[in-house]
Amino acid sequence: MLEVTKCDSDGEAAGSATGPSFRRRRGFQGSSQVTKKGKDTLMDAKKRLLVTGAGGFIGHHLVKRLKADGYWVRGVDLKSPEYEPSPADEFEILDLRRWDNCLAATRGGLDEVYNLAADMGGIGYITAFHADIARNNILINAHMLEASRQNGIKRFLFSSSACVYAQSKQKDADVAPLREEDAYPAEPEPGYGWEKLYAEELCRYYWQDYKFETRIVRFHNVYGPLGTFDGGKEKAPAALSRKVALANEGDYIEVWGDGKQTRSFMYVDDCVEGLIRIMASEYRDALNLGTDELVTIDELVDLVCDVAGKRLRKRHNLQGPQGVRGRNSDNTRLLEVLGWEPSITLRQGLRHTYPWIEEELRKAGRLSAMASAD
Ligand code: NAD
Repeated sequence: MLEVTKCDSDGEAAGSATGPSFRRRRGFQGSSQVTKKGKDTLMDAKKRLLVTGAGGFIGHHLVKRLKADGYWVRGVDLKSPEYEPSPADEFEILDLRRWDNCLAATRGGLDEVYNLAADMGGIGYITAFHADIARNNILINAHMLEASRQNGIKRFLFSSSACVYAQSKQKDADVAPLREEDAYPAEPEPGYGWEKLYAEELCRYYWQDYKFETRIVRFHNVYGPLGTFDGGKEKAPAALSRKVALANEGDYIEVWGDGKQTRSFMYVDDCVEGLIRIMASEYRDALNLGTDELVTIDELVDLVCDVAGKRLRKRHNLQGPQGVRGRNSDNTRLLEVLGWEPSITLRQGLRHTYPWIEEELRKAGRLSAMASAD
């Protein structure tokens, strides 16, 4: 259901079930599109939806939100969600690299598919495994698109990534925010970026040749509670939160690169809200979904330390993988299409993410006596 939450004087909204809610920096309008989406959502609460990757970070949050909105939801993944059970009406363990499993996942007169399943991880992971990632995801996306079409799905949303953007446009830390057209001429991230860009094209071909309705969303660095924070697949906010939680006052923590590389980060509640709005929109081409709050990785570390209430020192590992030098989201088109953009600040989001990671480490008995003294 459409929620427009009132902000208190701190900009942090009251009464959100899943964390901080929306602080509107600019551009929010109660536009007719938004109102219509709200109505449609109410009328269509009986819709039957499939979320692939429902055992993963964003997929699990999306299933929770869709269930809270009253939809019937099937979740599919190689694994169940790690930290809590899925509220999906059906949850099936299926390997979506296989064509027969994609047909099974999309069976039974479903209305819409959110295709979030992918072999992916943080910068260390996606730079280490080009062949596996590209092959696995090409199979998932090609089979899921065709199975969805054959089974009469009405709308298919593909989760793409900011890794599709041309690397030559991301060479400065003080980067110009990336507009959707900056993905061409193509020069994406090796492996993961190429297969995402190709799957975007495939979505366009399915519309051109079959009039099969597709939506394409380019996420920019999503973070939040219930996300992987250890083991090699975690992203920077989770990895740094873990390092900070495990450190004692005055310790050094390792930071990959010189810390001057820049990114923007989107809290998962904004991501889920954007996904639902983009699915409901009539826009078929790629859209950025991210914030344009650009920070250096050093600034991210300082923010996490601030939220944790710790003073730590940074040791920069210049050999560590760091990806492109700078990346930010240009939300002009998103605002034009939706009358909405993500607005939860990094500080607000970290206030919900850091304590969750710290608590998980505490439960696992991994916090030292000093690090856990508060
Ligand atoms: P995630 O790794 O937590 O979730 C992906 C899920 O897909 C996992 O649970 C995994 O088990 C599942 N999966 C992988 N291979 C599968 C297979 N063969 N069959 C069935 N399921 C399979 O990642 P996430 O952060 O939730 O990302 C969701 C989507 O968003 C992905 O498509 C990802 O590429 C995209 N994305 C995420 C980010 C981000 O910052 N999190 C950024 C850009 C794009």
